[in-house]
Amino acid sequence: MYSASVEPEAAIKSVRCITCGYDLVGLTPEMACPECGISVERSIRGDLLRWRDPKYLKRLHTGAVLIQTALSLIVVAFLLQLFAAPLASTNMRGVPIIVPLLAILASIGFTVGVILYPVGWFFLTARDPGRTDDEKGQRSRRLVRLSIVFMLVSTVLAFGIGFTLPLFAMSGAMNEQLASLLLFIAGAAQIVNLLVWVLQYYASMAYLRWLAERIPSERVYKRAKLLLWLGPILLLFFCFVIPPLIAVVLYYNMLSWIRTELNAIRSEQLASAA
Ligand SMILES: [Zn+2]
Repeated sequence: MYSASVEPEAAIKSVRCITCGYDLVGLTPEMACPECGISVERSIRGDLLRWRDPKYLKRLHTGAVLIQTALSLIVVAFLLQLFAAPLASTNMRGVPIIVPLLAILASIGFTVGVILYPVGWFFLTARDPGRTDDEKGQRSRRLVRLSIVFMLVSTVLAFGIGFTLPLFAMSGAMNEQLASLLLFIAGAAQIVNLLVWVLQYYASMAYLRWLAERIPSERVYKRAKLLLWLGPILLLFFCFVIPPLIAVVLYYNMLSWIRTELNAIRSEQLASAA
């Protein structure tokens, strides 16, 4: 159930400093944090993002921007590939030079995209300094972070071996056992990669529902809830091109909402600080 944390008092689950995480139990609102010096009053205003550390909000915003950039790169690369691949495979002589160039651009864009995506999620799941690890929402946050580590490692392994193996083979500097071992590792990395994408997807939708309550944004909450089941179904029909594009648009939209809300909260924070 969506429940925006409207009442600040009701939302306080622990009394931690919003900038350094220092345990403020026993201190009064007029006092300052012994660790970083900001007023205790600022840390007890509540769970809504507008009361949290501006640096934390900046990290979340950077995350949303990076994920959107990654998605754009992946989609453009996918469409370029779709357009360039059949042309390139037909008649090599009749193909303008731009086609193989586009194919190369597409694979570079795709690689950058699949690396930027977990990096973006790393920022969007930044830890609120004023929250402890055992609180609500932290489990999905940590699960997203764990899965993006595996995502990055398996991506780099699979791509790295995929790119370097043909070069090694051409130079003749590799025996058969080593080549088949590397191929096995690359294959295993690809399977792990697929599994962690699924894990990351489910964990991130749970995490976003938690974040949505703190923005607060009912539309982000509802979209994350919708995408939880609709996203995978649309992606199953990836060979028809349009369904996965719809999924990406729904996902991209949700990130735009998050970005807009974060921007509004951040300028509100700046205005009240001035
Ligand atoms: Zn502090």
